[in-house]
Amino acid sequence: MAVVGLGAIGSSALWQLAARGVDVVGVEQHEPGHDQGGSTGRTRLFRVACLEHPGLAPIARRSRELFRELEASSGEELLLESGGIMIGQPGSRIIEGTLATAREHGLPVERLDDAEVARRLPAHAVLDEGDVGLWDPEAGVARPEATIVAAVEAARAAGARVRTGERVLAIEPDDEGVTVRLASGDLRVARVVVAAGPWIAQLVPSAPVVPHRVVQTWFRPKEGRDAGIERLPVFIRSVPGLAGEPRWIWGHGALPGDLVKVGGEFDGPFDPDDPDAIDRGLHVGETDDIRDQVAATFPDLEPEPAAWTTCIMAHTPDGQFLVGRADAAGRVVVAGGCSGHSFKHAPALGELAAQAAVGESPATDVAFLDPRRFEHLVPSTAG
Ligand SMILES: Cc1cc2nc3c(=O)[nH]c(=O)nc-3n(C[C@H](O)[C@H](O)[C@H](O)COP(=O)(O)OP(=O)(O)OC[C@H]3O[C@@H](n4cnc5c(N)ncnc54)[C@H](O)[C@@H]3O)c2cc1C
Repeated sequence: MAVVGLGAIGSSALWQLAARGVDVVGVEQHEPGHDQGGSTGRTRLFRVACLEHPGLAPIARRSRELFRELEASSGEELLLESGGIMIGQPGSRIIEGTLATAREHGLPVERLDDAEVARRLPAHAVLDEGDVGLWDPEAGVARPEATIVAAVEAARAAGARVRTGERVLAIEPDDEGVTVRLASGDLRVARVVVAAGPWIAQLVPSAPVVPHRVVQTWFRPKEGRDAGIERLPVFIRSVPGLAGEPRWIWGHGALPGDLVKVGGEFDGPFDPDDPDAIDRGLHVGETDDIRDQVAATFPDLEPEPAAWTTCIMAHTPDGQFLVGRADAAGRVVVAGGCSGHSFKHAPALGELAAQAAVGESPATDVAFLDPRRFEHLVPSTAG
């Protein structure tokens, strides 16, 4: 078997396949933990009460178990549970989405009124009247680059072969198996897991995944102010004064030796960017929106970003991921389409991809992530 792309999901798929005793090779165009794909930027938010879909809560919890296994094998802290607060108006997507997931799974999410939010989390004292907060005690911060390196090492330790610095040029399934085309010579395998992140549609054209350049930003606390993660745990919240708009910001306080991370909502539709030609510079005015949103929300922060970097998002039409068989014969399994919220799920998505590849039943219902839900979007070549 082969896994193409050893980023967040592929590194886990490789590990999980090797752990099942499968003879598997992983191919990655860069080195594990690189900064050219969708998993760069030092941290990612982890939440269990996922506002995006109730079906994601069990996947996040399974991921947490796998993060802990990787922490044990690597000796690195990969997931820090800080708790997290979602703030918005009743009826907003942030609040109703989080509540729906919490209700469906009986999660220990606590509802706070605006006065209680300001008292318990003074960093969030600037609120719109009527805002409510939902405290998810299971939320936290995950470390993407270190997790990927740890998963690749765990895969190697379980017997996987790893080929880095090699680009897969094409994937060609046929009646007997799959040819994975490489410049250095083709691989012939029974099945392939394609976890190529923002590049996935280049290799599997039926995957409607749109790559899009995003700028990540970090902020410094004002002189003498505390903006550490304990005072400013993980958050997703509406911007004061913009509660009626479909806009929110997300982030977390500073980890030791680092800055405060704040990002804006990823609101499409998105123009596709070429993942091989991403503009890695910063354009004039590009961080003005986030600067204004930070200024309106956090009086303790210097509103001008202190650091930034580019990253590539991989969007699907419905904002949910793809994991499962892409073809009727099951020779090609796809896993990706991050849509801005998949890192927390990546260890479990890798496991689900491995399960699809070996024909095991998935541990949780993932019909809503079935790649074939988009079949009707693929242009017909007939006639
Ligand atoms: C700015 C930003 C913020 C985000 N915030 C959060 C968050 O707070 N919480 C959260 O849960 N998620 C978040 N996400 C989403 C999450 O980080 C990504 O979904 C996830 O890391 C993507 O993982 P992936 O495995 O799909 O892709 P990647 O990690 O990009 O992996 C794909 C890999 O495939 C390799 N590859 C591609 N093509 C080929 C080829 N032809 N041959 C060989 N190798 C190839 C690439 O080099 C890459 O290593 C965010 C995403 C972005 C961009």
